[in-house]
Amino acid sequence: MGSLTPGLVRDLLGRYNFRIKKGFGQNFLIDDNIIKKIVEVAGLKPTDTVVEIGPGLGSLTRRLSEKAGRVIAVEIDSTLLPILEETLSEYDNVTIIEADALKIDFNRLVGECSGPVERYKIVANLPYYITSPLIMHFLENSFNVGRIVIMVQEEVARRLAAMPGSKEYGVLTVAVNYYASVETAFRVPRTVFIPKPEVGSAVVCLDVRDGPPVSVLNRDNFFVLVRAAFQQRRKTLLNALGGVDKQLSREDWLGMLNEAGIDPSRRGETLDLGEFALLANIYTRRK
Ligand code: SAM
Repeated sequence: MGSLTPGLVRDLLGRYNFRIKKGFGQNFLIDDNIIKKIVEVAGLKPTDTVVEIGPGLGSLTRRLSEKAGRVIAVEIDSTLLPILEETLSEYDNVTIIEADALKIDFNRLVGECSGPVERYKIVANLPYYITSPLIMHFLENSFNVGRIVIMVQEEVARRLAAMPGSKEYGVLTVAVNYYASVETAFRVPRTVFIPKPEVGSAVVCLDVRDGPPVSVLNRDNFFVLVRAAFQQRRKTLLNALGGVDKQLSREDWLGMLNEAGIDPSRRGETLDLGEFALLANIYTRRK
């Protein structure tokens, strides 16, 4: 079946008198080769259920529906629904849900639309204005998601794959790598969207782990330390940790850092996941 060519996209936008809403991060893909590459990264099988966030005009949705068993597409913009009805009319394995993806319990949604499935996939050209909260929503809620294939701004892709000590390395890097293995699949130029975004994009593949790659006694304590370490990046670790816990003195932290074998004059942003876990476990035992 056919793709939504740039001509067809312009025709649709004109016929429905559709006004593009920047506030919803609407940049529609018009290059079928890129769309096919995204679908390829998702590695879909006919038995797969896929959740798409923000189907827009339905160009990616159509290609997903050709490869997967079921596609559930969640779109916030109600004015896109009549367009989707037209572009997806021939595709009988697609369910469109009008909702805010940030508020969705994906396990429940998939259960209702697809019946019980062990693991499903998420594929999306993400609305940029909520990229990080959406990624964290997918990962933090113990949904049965196996693979997440998402188009994000290049800068976000660099943050997701950043190494300790680099300027892109931050809470998002640590959090996402805690839950998933991250791979940047390919870069995407600005020219393949209507309207053209201001910056380049990249497609990233997150394979959700069965458990974190480091042993963590208490997840909340781990993330408290991670957030504190990055809050004021220029501070030494010892100074950054000072405000974490009213019960603990500077000497207490010095002792814990020494026990972990971590130099207290290092900056928090240089710690890798293993070091954060080690320190967090010492803190948890101490609490
Ligand atoms: N998938 C389409 C494509 O690739 O051409 C559209 C991608 S566009 C970057 C992002 C889409 O997400 C838009 O259709 C937008 O209306 C929708 N969207 C924005 N915020 C959303 C939210 N909170 N929940 C669900 N969809 C949202």
